[in-house]
Amino acid sequence: MRSLTEVAPGVLVATSSYALTTSTVVVGSSGGCLVIDPAVTAADLAGLAAELAARGLRPVVGWSTHPHWDHVLWSRELGDAPRYAAPAAVTVTEAERDGILDGARRAAPGLDLELVGRMRSLDASAIPWDGPEARLIVHNGHAPGHGAVFLPESGVLIAGDMCSDVEIPLLEVAATDPLGDYRTGMERLASAPGVRQVVPGHGHVGDAAELRRRLALDAAYLEAITSGKPAGDPRLTPDSPEWMRVMHDEQVRYFER
Ligand SMILES: [Zn+2]
Repeated sequence: MRSLTEVAPGVLVATSSYALTTSTVVVGSSGGCLVIDPAVTAADLAGLAAELAARGLRPVVGWSTHPHWDHVLWSRELGDAPRYAAPAAVTVTEAERDGILDGARRAAPGLDLELVGRMRSLDASAIPWDGPEARLIVHNGHAPGHGAVFLPESGVLIAGDMCSDVEIPLLEVAATDPLGDYRTGMERLASAPGVRQVVPGHGHVGDAAELRRRLALDAAYLEAITSGKPAGDPRLTPDSPEWMRVMHDEQVRYFER
């Protein structure tokens, strides 16, 4: 993992070499910090904890954006702060715990599996803490109970697995209305007022213009696959990871039914 980079005052992002997974830290008062989606390998988590300690920061609250294995991790070194996720995300994490642990075990050996997915349900409009306001934008696009975090003071949107420059939209095809859920999520993210930086769960931090570009690409992708046209998405190339091409094919087949 690369070390923490300040993307806005008091907002730090580290990016793992594993799928460009981001971890976000928001600096609060008296050395406390909010940690969002700490990821992803055991070495990444150890490095993150060491860097927080070196900066005199102590996690006082955690947030998981959604119930996929690479977004529900933690380590002993990060301490025993309460960790939260949206209610639907907690329900899915509990119901699908075996699959989540399996994903973590295979892709990132050495993680403390006892700490994987141990979030409490939070049904609120913001994360309860004494740092900068951290508003929650909850929807069911990509995964049930997907909770993006918007920091109005710094204009940073931590988007979870949406708004990526390296991943196509990945729908929750097991849902009743995957397309409607995804579009609702996009609309909610697009209507966050005063976004200056977007932090995707995987990929690179972008500015407001880049957020609009990504949302337009996402809309075009969804329009293409739902109308049987070639996706022509620049994020989908022969060099894309195999899992993403498999997901794309699955999504195309889903809308052919
Ligand atoms: Zn995900």
